[in-house]
Amino acid sequence: AKVFVYAKPFEGIPTKEHLKLIEEDLPSLKDGEFLAEAVYLSVDPYMRAYAPRMTIGQTMIGSQVAKITESKSSKFPVGKYVVSSFGWRTHTISNENPPVNAFVSAPVLIPYDGSVPLSYFLGVLGMTGATAYFGFLDICKPKEGETVVVSGAAGAVGSHVGQIAKIKGCKVIGIAGTDAKCEWIKTLGFDHTINYKKQDVAKALKEAAPNGVDCYFDNVGGEIATTVISQMNRFGRISACGAISGYNEEGLPKVSTFLPFIITNELEMKGFIVTTWLDKWSEAVTNNVKWMKEGKLQWRETVTEGFDNMVEALAGILRGDNTGKAVVKV
Ligand code: NDP
Repeated sequence: AKVFVYAKPFEGIPTKEHLKLIEEDLPSLKDGEFLAEAVYLSVDPYMRAYAPRMTIGQTMIGSQVAKITESKSSKFPVGKYVVSSFGWRTHTISNENPPVNAFVSAPVLIPYDGSVPLSYFLGVLGMTGATAYFGFLDICKPKEGETVVVSGAAGAVGSHVGQIAKIKGCKVIGIAGTDAKCEWIKTLGFDHTINYKKQDVAKALKEAAPNGVDCYFDNVGGEIATTVISQMNRFGRISACGAISGYNEEGLPKVSTFLPFIITNELEMKGFIVTTWLDKWSEAVTNNVKWMKEGKLQWRETVTEGFDNMVEALAGILRGDNTGKAVVKV
């Protein structure tokens, strides 16, 4: 098996110095075990953000879609596919009840029938899809006619949230880092877009939302979050999903100045970890599938070819190279 290990604490954007590729021999299977071969690996911002919780020498964290190629388990037969947080590895021996911890969950068989790409089980029909669905609907509680702002709007979660907001009859403003990304999310139905690298976000947002913002789905934190929150209406709701603008920085995030707006406008702000909704996960999958079939939910991926390029793919999402969900095809 090829395996990336966390070799040196991250500083800034991860490089091959921090994540080292090694080869590992795998033993033969024991009863109850199966061998899974990675097909697609997910590339997610949390891989950078969770660095303080990782230990040097551990397998780099992450989930993948893998094909079962050998098995001594009747529950996990050869030819089936699993989604699992095996980490950054090409081959994994697992079993029906592997030890689970903060980074490793039990493998789940997926109902792959060839109708959608396998990689979708890492995105729109997987973790980012559930994040968009529950993180937006349960926390922002959008009402028809309300104004919704999404940052990180051309990414996996953000592009999905914006489309759900349109399905719910909201006016949607997306903030993203390039003109091409802004153009793409307009084709998804976003009413307005702001390129935060080129435009004055506060001014552009005032123009796009002259009556203020009711819901903010925050993927980025930092200055963008403060700017949006400063323009929210009374009783507005904020879903604190991610804070990628600070993931490459050391120490505590910079002090934010949005608290006065939370108080004076009586805003509700809630952070979440998507696994909170594990017991109703299928609700997200069912609705996301339905919206895709109805043509209301479009999905894009940025696919990096080759397991050896995992580090580059991770660096890419931190630089903003991806549009839609970032995955690596082995
Ligand atoms: P994305 O597909 O959105 O990829 C990351 C994007 O972030 C980049 O493409 C880039 O787009 C943007 N970005 C990078 N640096 C900055 C910066 N300094 N300021 C603003 N934007 C930046 O990733 P995901 O959709 O997978 O994740 C989006 C967010 O959701 C992340 O913060 C992630 O941690 C969080 N998340 C949280 C979960 C939870 O359970 N709470 C679950 C899943 C994701 P651009 O070109 O626009 O800058």
